Amino acid sequence: MATNRTFTMIKPDAVANGHIGAILNDIIASGFRIVAMKYTKLSPEKAGEFYAVHKERGFYGDLVSFMSSGPIVAAILEKTNAVEDFRALIGATNPADAAEGTIRQKYAKSIDANAVHGSDSDENAEIEGNFYFTAFDKF
Ligand code: ATP
Ligand code: MG
Repeated sequence: MATNRTFTMIKPDAVANGHIGAILNDIIASGFRIVAMKYTKLSPEKAGEFYAVHKERGFYGDLVSFMSSGPIVAAILEKTNAVEDFRALIGATNPADAAEGTIRQKYAKSIDANAVHGSDSDENAEIEGNFYFTAFDKF
């Protein structure tokens, strides 16, 4: 398995509920190395652009307004098998279905406010990381 990268956001609900530290701790304890990290806030336009892949879905408007409702933490993470292992660490999209011990099971309350984002492929991890960070931000 190659060392590769994924991209995550700690979403506005988890930031507002005081879970930044606990979530970063879980991520680091699971063997991910932080390559880049930023505390920032998405405008509705930027959130719409980030989630453009979902624009035909019924929840798109709610997703965009939620993701621009407060600050987030964006980060690029590195590990062997990063994309798949990070999806396992965060758990199912709906926290009600997320396995015991996963980040969404521990820190999320609903499918729309589900604490964290994780890239779904190496290709999207690259695109999403480059949405926030330039080569000079990656270490
Ligand atoms: P993410 O991309 O945020 O890591 P995911 O890959 O598990 O989540 P996606 O299918 O990509 O899930 O959906 C993106 C986000 O849209 C979800 O994290 C969730 O917040 C929201 N979402 C997905 N499905 C629904 C739904 N049925 N109702 C409301 N919100 C939804
Ligand atoms: Mg997704």
